[in-house]
Amino acid sequence: MYLTFDDGPSENTKKILDVLDKYNVKATFFVTGNGQKYNKYIKEAYEKGHTIALHTYSHKYDEVYASVDAYFKDLDKLGQMVKEQIGFVPKYIRFPGGSSNTTSAKYCKGIMSTLVTEVQNRGYQYYDWNADSTDAQGNRRAVSLLVKNGTSSQAKNINLLMHDTGAKTTTVEALPKIIEHYQKLGYAFKGIDDTSFTPHHGVNN
Ligand code: ZN
Repeated sequence: MYLTFDDGPSENTKKILDVLDKYNVKATFFVTGNGQKYNKYIKEAYEKGHTIALHTYSHKYDEVYASVDAYFKDLDKLGQMVKEQIGFVPKYIRFPGGSSNTTSAKYCKGIMSTLVTEVQNRGYQYYDWNADSTDAQGNRRAVSLLVKNGTSSQAKNINLLMHDTGAKTTTVEALPKIIEHYQKLGYAFKGIDDTSFTPHHGVNN
């Protein structure tokens, strides 16, 4: 079971870390450069044994998907920011919108087809997801809905999409119930590492 939190760090990162500690489980944080006030939690999460991964510095689709060069310029900037916290540049990444996003076509035709190969040529691996809490579809969605969607997968390996932003307060509230559900089923909770399964969506641009 791979719990993944995109878009942090944020004012909720500490709360998420506390829940993970309480249940003694590990997770993965796909961070951006948009919450630098909270960057110390990148270091804290890493020191607690969670995985730190890259999600783009600006998270602005029109910038990161403007061109292949623009994407890597942004990714390098984020890599350096994270290096200041944990001492190295992570090689695990997640594309904004996932590799299957179609929004990027507005800015650069075919960019995802190039990027999925090029990131791997440059030593990165990208992770989409095969389960979705659906917390990206709105802020403060009902806890019951996030729990229902976040516990709906019965896959052997699960990579669950969640978000770490100030507005996603109900994600923090849903997290204990999601963890309890899968702990009861006997799942092991791990941060992404080199042996993790790599869920890849189909590329649509
Ligand atoms: Zn995101």
